[in-house]
Order: sequence, then C-alpha cells, then structure tokens
Amino acid sequence: MIKIKSLEEIELIRQSALLVSKTLGMIASEIKPGVSGIYLDKLAEEFIRDHGGTPGFKGMYDFPNTLCFSPNDQVVHGIPTEKPLRNGDIVSIDCGVLMNGFYGDHAYTFEVGEVDEATKKLLQVTKESLYIGIAQFKAGKRVSDIGHAIQQYTEGHGYGVVRELVGHGLGRKLHEDPQVPNYGRPGRGKKFKDGMVLAIEPMINMGTHRINQLSDGWTVLTADRKPSAHFEHDVALINGKPELLSTFQYIYDVLGIKTDEEKPFRSTT
Ligand code: MG
Ligand code: MG
Repeated sequence: MIKIKSLEEIELIRQSALLVSKTLGMIASEIKPGVSGIYLDKLAEEFIRDHGGTPGFKGMYDFPNTLCFSPNDQVVHGIPTEKPLRNGDIVSIDCGVLMNGFYGDHAYTFEVGEVDEATKKLLQVTKESLYIGIAQFKAGKRVSDIGHAIQQYTEGHGYGVVRELVGHGLGRKLHEDPQVPNYGRPGRGKKFKDGMVLAIEPMINMGTHRINQLSDGWTVLTADRKPSAHFEHDVALINGKPELLSTFQYIYDVLGIKTDEEKPFRSTT
C-alpha cells in the first residue's frame, strides 16, 4: 500500500534527504585518485552523526556500511574496501540517512580524475534520464510512466537498463510501495497522487542490461564488466507536480558545475 504523506512529513523527509545531499557534497571534496571507499565511508558516517542523523543503510538487511560504494562495473550495493580509487575510475555512491523517524536516500556517480569520453557520456545520459523520469511523476500519470520514459531515453543511446533493481516509495521505511522500475510499458500501475514520495533511481549500463551478484551477497555488477551509472533523487508530489527533496547542488558547489537542471523541480513558494 502506498503511504500518502502530509506536508509536515514531507518536510521531515526533506531534512533527511538534504543531510544525504550535504554528505555527498562533503564526499565530492574528498574524492580523488588514491582515496579508498573505507576512508570515505568513515567520513560519511561521522558527518551524518555530527549533523544529528543516523546512517540509513548500516545494519539494514545486515549491510555493513554507511555508503554503498560501487566503482566502474559495479552497479549498486558495493561494499567500501581499502582499495584506492584510480585516475579514470567512476564510482557510484549511494547514501541513506534516518533522522526524526524518516529516511533520505540518494546517489551520485562521481568521476575520479580524468575519465574517458564514452564513460562521461554514460554519466550524463543517466543523469538526464533521472530528470526525464522525475518529470513523469505528476498528476494524471502512473508509476510505469517513469520507467518507460527512462528506458526510451537511455536505450536510445544504446545503453542497458537494469531490470532487477528499482526505485521505491520512501518515508518511515527506506523501501516503501510502490516499486518504481526503470523500464516498462507506459500507463501501468498506481495513479500518482499528492503526498506520494518516491526515490527515483535509474541504474544504467554502458553495455548489456544483464547483471551478476558477487558472492558477498551484496555487490551487483554488469555481466559484461562494462561501466554502470546510478543517480537517485527523493521527490514529493505536491499540487500535482514533482518537487525535489534532495539536491546535487552541494556536489556542484564543490566541483564548480553550473546547471539549471533542478530548477523545474524546485518549489516556487
Ligand atoms: Mg539509494
Ligand atoms: Mg533508493
């Protein structure tokens, strides 16, 4: 069952989402060749606790860390290790926060040093597909319209859409109904209503959509070992329109990126 949130509850989810956003911004200032996932994970946990939150993933389904840290061919759910990042790597970092009883959950794929053009393009298209999906989260549309739009756009670039992992409702639980696949036929599933909150999160592979899981029971990687990208935002439906609760702006401030991509999904009040 989909839980409809009050505006007060949405504000609390926004606070948790923004703490994730700030944590990812802090990480953006630390990512470079030679830095390990374990190091970033410790920093993230301290940062979240110093700001009044609790790591949202640690201990959830027995996941051991604060960050899901998934370099290169890892899609999601990678476990941070001591292995240093190298120039030319990409790394998808997914982070959750629990604060005031509500979760935030969002993710960004970072470039490490100089990344090749084909991989940069994968990151750009995946991020664009996130906003294309978010634009479908509005009155009159249904759950599968998000995935349909994401699939059309990313497959149009020759990429593979991961099937087995999906976006989701978000609130007092990290994973609530509905499931939000990143593929599918349009016009299916529940109709969108004010007060719904979704974590929308395309996971897009440069090559095949097929994935494997490592024997650690967590790490998901591409079957062809080509790179994969993952971008995730938390979004509420308010007055029939999608409103971003999370932001990449803290990351962009660190990296010196100027963009208006979030503007259509910002509250004007
Ligand atoms: Mg996530
Ligand atoms: Mg999520």
